[in-house]
Amino acid sequence: MACAGHWVLGQGWRTLPLCWTDARGGCACGSGHAPNDAGKAPLSAQGVKDASNDPRQLDTWRSQWPDANWGVACGPVTVVNINNAQLAERLAKDAHLLTTLFMVASPGRNGVHLYVQEEDGAEPGCTLSTRNGAAIGSLHGLGGYVVAPGSTLAGRPYQALNSKPPLPVDDLQAWLTGLLERFGVPIEPFRSSAAFPALPPNGDTAELEEAALQKALQVLHSNQFMRLQAVLGDPTSQGFTSRTEADWFAVNKFMDAGLSDHEVALLWLRSPLGERPTVRRRPGYVARILAAARAAAMRLQPS
Ligand SMILES: [Zn+2]
Repeated sequence: MACAGHWVLGQGWRTLPLCWTDARGGCACGSGHAPNDAGKAPLSAQGVKDASNDPRQLDTWRSQWPDANWGVACGPVTVVNINNAQLAERLAKDAHLLTTLFMVASPGRNGVHLYVQEEDGAEPGCTLSTRNGAAIGSLHGLGGYVVAPGSTLAGRPYQALNSKPPLPVDDLQAWLTGLLERFGVPIEPFRSSAAFPALPPNGDTAELEEAALQKALQVLHSNQFMRLQAVLGDPTSQGFTSRTEADWFAVNKFMDAGLSDHEVALLWLRSPLGERPTVRRRPGYVARILAAARAAAMRLQPS
């Protein structure tokens, strides 16, 4: 790991080895990771659950995978990932922010990572969107991880912009809302149970599911639909080792496109409020998404 990586280790944070890329950004670790996962997928069997700050474990990994990228397990820190390039550029140049908290430029989509510490303990991650529904990034909290400074994608580094510690915050939502308002970007409340509509008394979620499906059809592009269609229809032919892996790929696509955790959960199966959806197999439902995806792909296909 480069200097910035050592800095991360010096914080006592738990880290984990990740896939690394070739000069063009493709998977170079030998596992054949999909383009979106290249340079970011965990190398050890249990992924983020294996993350460690034990120097012996880290040495073992370093000798096993000397070229690995590295991840920081979140929980002790929460990372605000802003992947809207214009907003990220403004944040990364903000003199006040640079003297306030640890910041890392991320090369994938020219984004920026803001490191904070939630004083009441980290919660699970979620997506971030503006009040008019545009996806601008994600929160990585308990159970998640981010690619650490010192790692690279296609030779471009995750670059620490300063060496400040993470900023302690007692109310992450209030802090982030205030910060982004200063940049003229009003955001939707996140992690709010209140944002979940009440379920009908009979437990029938069909209407809510339909609304989530319609939103998914609006926000995804035709080529994304076709890819998801192929992945969910036949995971193994698309380079996935399991149905679960394919499900997670699809979930991440929906979240990247700006669907809320809640809407993604409805697309699969209703899950406990406020939590990242538990993805379970539900053949009838997936078939319905596939049918809608297929129809949308036909409609949207460029002529
Ligand atoms: Zn790989």
